[in-house]
Amino acid sequence: MTHRTRIPSTGRNPDQLLAHMDQLRTADADYRGGRTWSMVYWANEAHEAFLKKAHNLYFSDNALNPIAFKSLKQMESEVVQMTADMLHGPDSAVGTMTSGGTESILVAMAAYRDRARRRWPWIRRPNVVLPETAHPAFDKAGHYFGIRMRRAAVLPTGQVDIRDMKRRIDRNTIALAASAPQYVTGTIDPIPELGALALSKRLPFHVDGCFGGFIQPWLEKLGVAMPPWDFRVPGVTSISADVHKYGYTAKGASVIVYRDMSYLRHQFFVQTGWSGGIYISPSMRGTRPGGPIAAAWASLQAMGEDGYLEIAKTAYDTAQHLRDGLNAIDGLRVLGLPHSIVAAYAASSDEVDLFVVADQLQERGWSVDRQSTPPSIHCSVNAANAPVVDEYLADVRDAVAHARAHPELSTEGDAAMYGMMAKVPIRGLVDHSVRKIMEQMYSPDGTMPDLGASEEIDGTLLKALDLFDRAKRAIPSRRGAGL
Ligand SMILES: *Cc1c(COP(=O)(O)O)cnc(C)c1O
Repeated sequence: MTHRTRIPSTGRNPDQLLAHMDQLRTADADYRGGRTWSMVYWANEAHEAFLKKAHNLYFSDNALNPIAFKSLKQMESEVVQMTADMLHGPDSAVGTMTSGGTESILVAMAAYRDRARRRWPWIRRPNVVLPETAHPAFDKAGHYFGIRMRRAAVLPTGQVDIRDMKRRIDRNTIALAASAPQYVTGTIDPIPELGALALSKRLPFHVDGCFGGFIQPWLEKLGVAMPPWDFRVPGVTSISADVHKYGYTAKGASVIVYRDMSYLRHQFFVQTGWSGGIYISPSMRGTRPGGPIAAAWASLQAMGEDGYLEIAKTAYDTAQHLRDGLNAIDGLRVLGLPHSIVAAYAASSDEVDLFVVADQLQERGWSVDRQSTPPSIHCSVNAANAPVVDEYLADVRDAVAHARAHPELSTEGDAAMYGMMAKVPIRGLVDHSVRKIMEQMYSPDGTMPDLGASEEIDGTLLKALDLFDRAKRAIPSRRGAGL
């Protein structure tokens, strides 16, 4: 290592530091200008300024101790109540706030595992049955808590195949899960059928509403044909919903709601034998920052139903306009169903390499979210994107034309790498390459590698592709990619 950053021996001037940080972030994704299509959900300047004030009031407060910080406990309870009400939860509905969608899913899976340990102590290798498209947070839960995630196949509509879900349930199954909607194409799984399945098997059923939880209720009120997915569906026992997505609050706020205390009870952690005294914790974290709780409460209160209806309508109309515009471009097809707030698109012609399109869009200053099965580009649409949709569509049109005219670009830059990643069927090799890159990113000097030029990726993946090509000649392919 050449140079390690040290804590300066004398503190630096705060104003200069802030100016420096302002300068640093000019190279980051531009969400205020609507040029990101995921990651940031941003309403407007006034709402952001208001949230910052609410957040700052509780900047140093710690919700770990609800007795010391009663007002935070009150706000957390009210956020859970407002969310449960929005999701048509019964009067018995209970829950907690968490730091985000991942934590909400983690705590739900941990609760179902511990519930299973009590009720079905003979289960040694617990599993949860869920769609292929459900968020990787479930795999993370499986990885941390020793639960097998059994993934069921998805139909061309993007919805899970119920028969395959059913087939994968066995005597070690402790819960079912599905998405409303899944992130990939924004499609809602058939929740009523899955709820009935869960009831018939006497299993709890988690609906991942992290993404859509704070927009679908408003879209339904606006008359969008929204399939049933919330607590009105019998058999749904828990829902996760992220306030930091379509609730347009500060990062670090999600809600996990259960049908009643018989489930939430298993989420609580209690340690009575510690030398420091009795320690209780409702979710995964110890210290719980007050800011995100306060900002979430303030966002729900300040927006109100009328505010959310208006901003949901803008996002939905924008998404539909984008989906129609993309479908009209020769060489592209939009994935998912019309209720989707996502515009995910793939190539409909062999002449268009979608990863080349992605590189072209990136060069034009758009933040691009690439997906693998099938190769596609993902746009989660929110209100901030409305003013730039037509500019985006024009750039996509140009990018597609460019990709058609320059087939050689498929083997250059990021397109080559993503193309390989999507093609290599041996996931273990991809896993190996990606881990090497992570090690590089988190090495002592923490440099950001140039992905397109990574020899590690190229070397390992090229070897893998070569192996695959030889294997393919021996074994005919059984399964096509499609959502
Ligand atoms: C974002 C998301 C999650 C995970 O939430 P984080 O806040 O990123 O931890 C889970 N499920 C779906 C469908 C999501 O879109």
